[in-house]
Amino acid sequence: MAGVSLKHICKTYPNGFEAVKDFNLEIKDKEFLIFVGPSGCGKSTTLRMIAGLEEITSGELKIGDTVVNDVEPKDRDIAMVFQNYALYPHMTVYENMAFGLKLRKVPKDQIDKMVKEAAKILDLEQLLDRKPKALSGGQRQRVAMGRAIVCNPKVFLMDEPLSNLDAKLRGQMRIEISKLHQRLETTIIYVTHDQTEAMTLGTRIVVMNAGVIQQVDTPQKLYEEPGNMFVAGFIGSPQMNFLDAVCQVEDDDVYLTIGEMKLRLPETKAEKLKAGGYDGKTVVLGIRPEDLHDESEFVESSQGTALKAKIRVYEMVGAEVFLCFEYEGTNMTARVAPKTAARTGDIVKFALDADKIHVFDKDTEKTIT
Ligand code: ATP
Repeated sequence: MAGVSLKHICKTYPNGFEAVKDFNLEIKDKEFLIFVGPSGCGKSTTLRMIAGLEEITSGELKIGDTVVNDVEPKDRDIAMVFQNYALYPHMTVYENMAFGLKLRKVPKDQIDKMVKEAAKILDLEQLLDRKPKALSGGQRQRVAMGRAIVCNPKVFLMDEPLSNLDAKLRGQMRIEISKLHQRLETTIIYVTHDQTEAMTLGTRIVVMNAGVIQQVDTPQKLYEEPGNMFVAGFIGSPQMNFLDAVCQVEDDDVYLTIGEMKLRLPETKAEKLKAGGYDGKTVVLGIRPEDLHDESEFVESSQGTALKAKIRVYEMVGAEVFLCFEYEGTNMTARVAPKTAARTGDIVKFALDADKIHVFDKDTEKTIT
């Protein structure tokens, strides 16, 4: 049973590079927490500090009730799974899984019991005598998990454990890891740069950029209520469309104007812009691809809120179609139903769902509504 607490954690590498800046987070016991963000944002550095593989420059790190800043990795009661599995090639699956326990001088019969139990959970029972080179990528990954499981740690740390697998296997392993979390009921801290992995696995997600936490929330909240443009753009694929818009207050109504499109905001959104003093200012309108509609019933009832554009790319991806176009100098994507009649070169009208738009401050890039 252990949560992990990070208070004002900073990491400056010896060359002076600040990789993690004032990181504050309470990770709850049994939580499946994800660090996600672009390459170089400090995810692995943070995880490695928790593991004890990287020195903490300043701040306080607790696992359970113990401050562990100066505790050796092996005494932290954690187990780490890396992206390259780090299996010993000359040892069998059984020996690989037993290795950590042997080092700890656990009695042989107990090791046997623990390895067999983990092998059962991970469906590795038939493979215990094989060497890693005789295993598939997914099987190797399961052995790496098994090696972590047998140690029965308080906290699992996983650094991009699926990144060496092909897309199909990654999908399967995602489900396996999710089941494993439910079964083991332990805290998992998981690093990935893949937002699909983050959204499907995490009970909470920490979005990082340039060493700084951008937002900590459930997957759904991050998607529906991103706190700034970075999070809005990072979570969601294809990504949210952003357009510069001029805000105008007329009588009691608030309008956003972009080119020939004039969009009246719903009341709650309008109030936020009025209260923030945005009349006459340029803001950024954000709209997800699925909230742009090309169906005639939407477009006909949209009055001034439709935007007209020439389709540059038509992309059929099975259950949906992506239509890429340019509007007012910005590349945009709409996600529409496969029955759409639109094709490359067509002029198409799209209606925006005003209830679904996001509005950001152009200078601070923070969400206004
Ligand atoms: P990726 O997804 O590419 O693994 P990441 O978010 O895990 O990225 P980190 O590995 O934590 O990023 O690195 C954060 C930043 O710190 C990067 O800019 C990296 O170049 C820098 N960095 C990492 N290790 C060192 C080091 N030993 N010395 C100096 N800078 C480092």
